[in-house]
Amino acid sequence: MRNRVCRECGKTFYGANNATRCPACRERRANKRYPPSEVDDLMLDAREADAAGLSYGNWRAKQLMEKQKLRQQAEENRRRKAADAGKEEQP
Ligand SMILES: [Zn+2]
Repeated sequence: MRNRVCRECGKTFYGANNATRCPACRERRANKRYPPSEVDDLMLDAREADAAGLSYGNWRAKQLMEKQKLRQQAEENRRRKAADAGKEEQP
């Protein structure tokens, strides 16, 4: 271990004899070689479930229930509106 000069940025750093780049430059190169993976929808869902503190299955079920509830409410509103309109048409 001794002081080395970075091949890329020219900064001196303390590293192994075979090190040619400072830790910052080495990390930058490593990130370039392995770019961060793209996140797909399933991964996003799984993360959201994780954030909510639920297992994925329970979270998914809850989401479906909420969607179903909203759909039922919308349908009920539509039915009520139609019924009201029907009443108004009658003399
Ligand atoms: Zn460097």
